Amino acid sequence: EPAVIPVSRHGVRREQISPAANKVCTVLQEAGHKAYVVGGAVRDIIVGQTPKDFDVATSATPEEVRALFRRSRIIGRRFKIVHVMSGPETIEVSTFRAMQDAESTETDEHGRVLRDNVFGSMAEDATRRDFTVNALYYNPTDETVIDYHHGVADLQQKTLRMIGDPRVRYREDPVRMLRAARLGAKLGLSIDPAARAPIREMAELLENVPPARLFDEMLKLLMSGHAVKCLRQLREEGLHHGLLPLLDVILEQPLGERFVWLSLENTDDRVRQGKPVSPGFLFATLLWHEVLADWEARKADGAHSQPALFDAMDAVLDKQSGKLAITRRIAGDIKEIWALQPRFEKRAGKTPYRLLEQPRYRAGWDFLRLRAQSGEIPMELPDWWDAFADANPDSRESMLVPDK
Ligand code: ATP
Ligand code: MG
Repeated sequence: EPAVIPVSRHGVRREQISPAANKVCTVLQEAGHKAYVVGGAVRDIIVGQTPKDFDVATSATPEEVRALFRRSRIIGRRFKIVHVMSGPETIEVSTFRAMQDAESTETDEHGRVLRDNVFGSMAEDATRRDFTVNALYYNPTDETVIDYHHGVADLQQKTLRMIGDPRVRYREDPVRMLRAARLGAKLGLSIDPAARAPIREMAELLENVPPARLFDEMLKLLMSGHAVKCLRQLREEGLHHGLLPLLDVILEQPLGERFVWLSLENTDDRVRQGKPVSPGFLFATLLWHEVLADWEARKADGAHSQPALFDAMDAVLDKQSGKLAITRRIAGDIKEIWALQPRFEKRAGKTPYRLLEQPRYRAGWDFLRLRAQSGEIPMELPDWWDAFADANPDSRESMLVPDK
């Protein structure tokens, strides 16, 4: 008995769905299966945002899907899904899946669900999803939305509501607390009081989530284009204190508060303008004042500047890595940006020419400018480098600033 909502009430037209997602649904339906565009994409279109990818849910098994599309492959061991390639797009196709309750399934000692890998009916697939607005199934063939949990009404009333009992759902998967803050901010929805109230007391369950998963979710949050709003929301929900070391750094550091918020605003702007943002740059800004403090302490103890900086960088990254699995590659990017910073101080001899040749010069300079905007260093420094980089080679010599 789900509601079948006509296009006149939700407004999602077939043309707003990517050609590949439309095609995948049509092919599956013509082979006798159910197939719908599902999840974030339907929700985003209804609120007037552009989806970043399209997922399809179907009654067909992964093997049946695989057999219908030449350019497709089955991925995942725990729960198989199929990637269907069509033109430049990849569509993720999942078979309807049931979520067993905590009694009948494997959980950790805090009730976190470790397995949810059984196929199920479409109704079960809807019920295992987190928020009502994420459980909408769009049929491109007749442009209807199948809505089991009043998600369309919730979207129209600007409410983010949990499917089922929020306490139970947070216990099954604590990451849903972070998702609530992120999706609320991204979609401009207010979190339903019943879903909001338990967050404060259940926040500590996030400690049991594997670091790699937390990192993914934090990255999504920080790169969402709404990082400032998300983080304010998290602070309001009490979702930081001691839980996520990175959040503590962002939300509670007295030292770099201005710098961090400036950097998040800068990231939000870039995302919204469709410019690329690198996780390395972002994390480098979030942790910079920790590095500065550690570096200063080491120098005060008599260490030489350069080795002290490298030791400080390692110490700060180590402290984060236990709980937040910053990948090796991103850690490498972060260090490159930090290591460039003292080199901007040298404006004499051959050094400035060599710095300009650095592949990471631009990222280093962007970072330097943010430091200046936050008041840490004079604006004169990034301005000088900008002028130096622009100057023709003949006049550069006269711009050099001899060491004092
Ligand atoms: P985004 O805009 O970031 O892609 P999204 O809602 O699409 O947001 P995904 O991580 O892509 O997020 O998840 C796709 C769908 O899978 C969601 O819409 C939701 O229905 C379901 N889902 C994702 N994470 C969870 C979760 N932790 N618990 C239950 N359902 C989830
Ligand atoms: Mg998505």
